Amino acid sequence: MPSLAATATPAAGTAAVLLLTLAALTLGYLAVCWVRPFRRCRRCHGTGRRRSLILRAGRACRRCDGTGEHMRPGRAALNYFRELHDKGTPR
Ligand SMILES: [Zn+2]
Repeated sequence: MPSLAATATPAAGTAAVLLLTLAALTLGYLAVCWVRPFRRCRRCHGTGRRRSLILRAGRACRRCDGTGEHMRPGRAALNYFRELHDKGTPR
């Protein structure tokens, strides 16, 4: 059966490329989370102010508490694991 042998090698190669791509994307995202832990708030576009529709008055954005920045989810996960690690380390 030469056809089965021919398809076995490319499938394993495709899986390896897929795994390497996922690993590279994950490591890249974690590097971005490490270097730049905060991103611009999507709701207020980084201004920290929201304009009310009815009164047209500006008020602080509730999502970012008026800072205009929001912590990336990956950085929150890194902080959680760091805190978990520090709690488990005997001093
Ligand atoms: Zn905001």
